[in-house]
Amino acid sequence: MTISELKAVCDGCKTVVGADEGALWISHQAVKEQEAAVRSWKAHTEAKTLSGHVPVHSYQEVMDYPDAVRWAVHHNTCAPACFDSSYHVPVQQLRTWADLTPGQPTSWGRAGCRQRLAAASRIRGAR
Ligand SMILES: [Zn+2]
Repeated sequence: MTISELKAVCDGCKTVVGADEGALWISHQAVKEQEAAVRSWKAHTEAKTLSGHVPVHSYQEVMDYPDAVRWAVHHNTCAPACFDSSYHVPVQQLRTWADLTPGQPTSWGRAGCRQRLAAASRIRGAR
């Protein structure tokens, strides 16, 4: 079995991020804002649901559901200001697909499966 190595590409300069050069990251502030928007969306849409009934959402309500927060990859030198107050994982810790799967001993801490899968969408497999 061949292990496929991952290649992180900077969202800023669109070049490869080498070991110790950057990180995969997500903004704590953006996550808090998105969670608040979801709570607001639920409160608004569920207020119209009759007691004891399953919520039914209109097309417009579904379209208005707050967008998920994007993970980003940046070189340390290309990262925006909010990078320092973000949750980030150094690129050198994410070199294989196995690094993005649950159960691997990594520095991800509380990060769950969904976060890792979202992260996988931000890193391209090396060819
Ligand atoms: Zn860059």
